[in-house]
Amino acid sequence: MSSSAAAQDSATQDPATQDSATQDPADPVTAAPTAGAAGQPGASMLEASGWRDMFRLLVPHRGAVVLGAVLSLVSGLVALAQPLVAKWIVDALEARESVLEPLVLLTAIVVGAAVVGAWSHYVLARIAESVVLDTRRSVVRRILRLRMSEVGRFPPGDLMARATSDTALLREALSQTLVDALRGVVLLLAIAAMMYLMDPVLLLVTAGVLVAASLLIGVIIPYFQRYSRKVQEAVADLNAVLERALGAFRTIKASGSEPGEAAAMDRANRQAYSYGLKLARLGGVVGGVALLAIHVSYLVVLGVGAARVVSGAIPISTLIAFLLYLFALIEPVAGLIGAGAGFSTGVAAVRRVRDVTDLAVEPIDLDRDPRAAPARHTRPATVEFRDVRFRYPGPDTALVHDGVDFAVPPLGMTALVGPSGAGKSTVFALIERFYRPESGRVLLDGRDVGDWSLDQLRATIGYVEQDAPILAGTLRENLLLGVGEVEPDRLREVLVRCRLAALVDALPAGVDSPVGHRGSSLSGGERQRVAIARALLRRPRLLLLDEATSQLDAVNEAALRETVSDLARELTVLVVAHRLSTVVRADRILVMDNGRIRAAGGHAELLDGDELYRELASVQLLTSVDSGDDPVG
Ligand code: ATP
Repeated sequence: MSSSAAAQDSATQDPATQDSATQDPADPVTAAPTAGAAGQPGASMLEASGWRDMFRLLVPHRGAVVLGAVLSLVSGLVALAQPLVAKWIVDALEARESVLEPLVLLTAIVVGAAVVGAWSHYVLARIAESVVLDTRRSVVRRILRLRMSEVGRFPPGDLMARATSDTALLREALSQTLVDALRGVVLLLAIAAMMYLMDPVLLLVTAGVLVAASLLIGVIIPYFQRYSRKVQEAVADLNAVLERALGAFRTIKASGSEPGEAAAMDRANRQAYSYGLKLARLGGVVGGVALLAIHVSYLVVLGVGAARVVSGAIPISTLIAFLLYLFALIEPVAGLIGAGAGFSTGVAAVRRVRDVTDLAVEPIDLDRDPRAAPARHTRPATVEFRDVRFRYPGPDTALVHDGVDFAVPPLGMTALVGPSGAGKSTVFALIERFYRPESGRVLLDGRDVGDWSLDQLRATIGYVEQDAPILAGTLRENLLLGVGEVEPDRLREVLVRCRLAALVDALPAGVDSPVGHRGSSLSGGERQRVAIARALLRRPRLLLLDEATSQLDAVNEAALRETVSDLARELTVLVVAHRLSTVVRADRILVMDNGRIRAAGGHAELLDGDELYRELASVQLLTSVDSGDDPVG
């Protein structure tokens, strides 16, 4: 959609029904717009907003974060008492006093630190799990509500990766990161305090070495985010290529294009591998620098400390305790570095999740009871297009509708005919409000579809798409999609009407038989009939039927034609017709060409009066005419 179309899209809708990209204030994942939503942010802005997003995810769990922090603090402090008790033991031995008391205390400290440590670990890991739960819920719900214009922005495989592997990465990053970061900060501060109490001079020496190492590591850490994002993008590419291949598996096989698909997958795989290696190298460098810093400070402290012992500035027990604290530093330092790297990875994942949650969605209530159908009227619907102009979203797309004008009265069958690509199926997409027109109005029952509640609007319509998509699951699930429960008699009646009863009776588990991925265990014609039955079970007031160009055999086609003609006596039927046999039975025919309705009328009238219709009737529609029809008269 062009920018003007997008502006019009939102301008024509009232607040209650407006499709929007707005954030849900209660949802930590979508709570605030990011720089990415506003425009093209710079890398540093991206990083900063990523970190903010990451922290925002923790806000709903702040109570647990505080508990985890307190537990970490307690376990850290308890553990820190260890060197003090060690000093006590050395002093006691020097003074030839009993060491029983400090030994008992040491044992209690070790056990206490382990118990509290395990508890804090669990509390923090639970926060990570909760964040993943919230994030997945938010992403999945967002995906289900996406506007049609947005859904094509990412390949399905990529969207799936964002909902699954990216959020899993977030868990990994958060669970360990939270534990390590909180524990690291607490321990570091506590150890620094103890070192200060032992000997401020030695603390200064240690801090000098560690600060130099931290500066170096600080330069490297942002690269973790960059390379993590690259790895995740490559994994998503792999997903997308796989999804593409599995979605058209027969075509891939029949065309012998397995090597091409394998090469594309290999490329994505290698990409993930090469960025994974870069991350591993960074991890190695950072770990090495940290370890080196600890060892260097150990040597420096040993040298300076020995000199201070010799000069009598500190006793030997203080130097021993200080060195023990220095080794105790390894854990928090390594933890903080790991947390920095993990957080960067998490930030990269959050950014990719954010890309999805920033997409515009339709105002659909996902929490309504799926079995509670919106209140229905029984009278047949009317449809009207008033000077509708429309183009599909995307750069430089052409107008598909350029002033479409027509009115469909209640009851009866109206056939839309026209050359391929004339914009016939697009009429249906606009009635269903999958897209909004650039200008002009689409009215259902005299009311702009933009003013309808989406639930009500779509409950009014039964829509049979041209390719009759079938979902994996059972036949029953497919038939009752969005309908909930129906009376067995009603189900049977519709099955008979759509000539599916014999098929169902022959299946081992009847309507509860699985239909395979995308209905692969059904024939093309059966899929078509299931799609029609599904539409009828909704008890629509308007049936939109995008007629299949093939797939129905002559007997079933004739039967369905009868069914549709029957239906047209109860409700309004709008059919994109590809068969003359359908067209000649229509109460009125709309001829569409070049984004406009160029003629309207009955079959005979149009044969006389419209050249394109005559041509269509004699050439294009002729392809599937049955024996009883005379295409041109
Ligand atoms: P057919 O009889 O072949 O089904 P149609 O008259 O139903 O054709 P539409 O499906 O309405 O034609 O398509 C009208 C034009 O819009 C075509 O040029 C098509 O390429 C384009 N089009 C359809 N869907 C999209 C889409 N999702 N994004 C961009 N362009 C689209």
